[in-house]
Amino acid sequence: MIIKLNNSTNANQISNIQFFLKTNGYEFFYQDFKKHLIVPTLKQTELLNQFDFIEEIIEVSTPYQLSSKQYKNNTVFSVKGIEIGGNDLNLIAGPCSIETEDQIHVVAEFLKKQQVKFIRGGAFKPRTSPYNFRGLGNKGLKFIKEAAEKNDLRVVTELMDLSNLEEVYNHTDIIQIGARNMSNFSLLAELGKTNKPIMLKRGMSAKATEWLLAADYILCGGNENVILCERGIRSFDMQSRNVFDLGVIPLMQSLSHLPVFADPSHGVGKAAFVNKMGLAAIVSGANGLMIEIHPNPEKALSDGEQALTFNEFELFIQNSKPLLSAINKSADFVNTKKTLEYQNF
Ligand code: PEP
Ligand code: MN
Repeated sequence: MIIKLNNSTNANQISNIQFFLKTNGYEFFYQDFKKHLIVPTLKQTELLNQFDFIEEIIEVSTPYQLSSKQYKNNTVFSVKGIEIGGNDLNLIAGPCSIETEDQIHVVAEFLKKQQVKFIRGGAFKPRTSPYNFRGLGNKGLKFIKEAAEKNDLRVVTELMDLSNLEEVYNHTDIIQIGARNMSNFSLLAELGKTNKPIMLKRGMSAKATEWLLAADYILCGGNENVILCERGIRSFDMQSRNVFDLGVIPLMQSLSHLPVFADPSHGVGKAAFVNKMGLAAIVSGANGLMIEIHPNPEKALSDGEQALTFNEFELFIQNSKPLLSAINKSADFVNTKKTLEYQNF
C-alpha cells in the first residue's frame, strides 16, 4: 500500500502516523521528498480512517510496490532527447569492454553510421576469474565519453562498486548494474539517490519478484528512471551460456510499469545465435535491446565468442526492419515509418 500524505501535513502528523504503523508492527519506508509512506504488509485501508491528512491511498497487493503496475501504468523518460519506454524500440550496442581508445572510436563511428543512438562498453568488468582483463577503469570511461560525444551517442556503462560512482556518473548517460550486482542492496539504495537512469540487469537466478524488489530499492530513494534488462538465467544445461528467458519480457511488462530490455548476447553467449534471438526479443515486445559488437571479435579481451562483427550487426539491423514494420513498431535506429508507407502504398 502506498499512502500519499497532503502537502500540508506537518511534522507532528507525520510522526503520529509513523508511530501508529510502528506500534502495530508494520514495516514501512517513508519518502520525505514526496510525503509518501510505502507499507507493503498493510492491507486494510479502514485502519487509516483516523488520519485526515491522507490525500490518497494506492493499494498494491504485491511485495514490490513502486515498480508495480498497480502503482503506475507506464514509465517513459528521455536520455539526451531519445525516449525510453515509449513507442520506439531502443538499441544499445558496443563492445563488452572498452579496450583501447582506437577501438571504442572505431565502434562509435560505425554506430553513428548505422543511426544507433546508444553505445555500450565496460570500463569496470565483473570477470569470473581475477586473472582475466578487468577493464581500463577511469581511462576507459574517458575514452567512451569522448567517442560518444564525437558521434552523437549516449553512453551505457557498468558500475560495480560505490567507490567508482562519481567517475562513472560523470561519464555515462545510463548506469548499468550487472547481473552479479542485482542483489547488492546498498549499491542499489545509493543509486536511488542519484538522478541518472539505471539499467538493472536480471540476476543469474533471480525470480520476477526478486528482480522487482531490487528495482524498488532504487525507486524508493527517488530515482524513477529504471530499466529492467533480461540477460539470461542459469539452468541445468550449460551447453548454452545461459537460458535466454524471453517469456519474462511480457511477464515483467504485465507486472511492472518499467521499460524492459533484452540482451541476447549474454542471453545465448554465441554470436551465431544473437541475430535470431535479438529478432525474437523484438517480437516478444522488449522496449529495447543491448547487443555486443566488436571490430575483431577473435581478438576481444572479453566475451569475443558472443560479439557480432560489424557486418553481422548490419545484417541484424537489415533483418529488423521488415520485422518492425510487420509488428507495427517504430525504433530509434531505423525509420520504420518509411517501410510502412511503402508497404501501404
Ligand atoms: C556486460 O554487459 O558486459 C555484463 C557483464 O553483463 P551481465 O551483468 O549481464 O553479465
Ligand atoms: Mn559482456
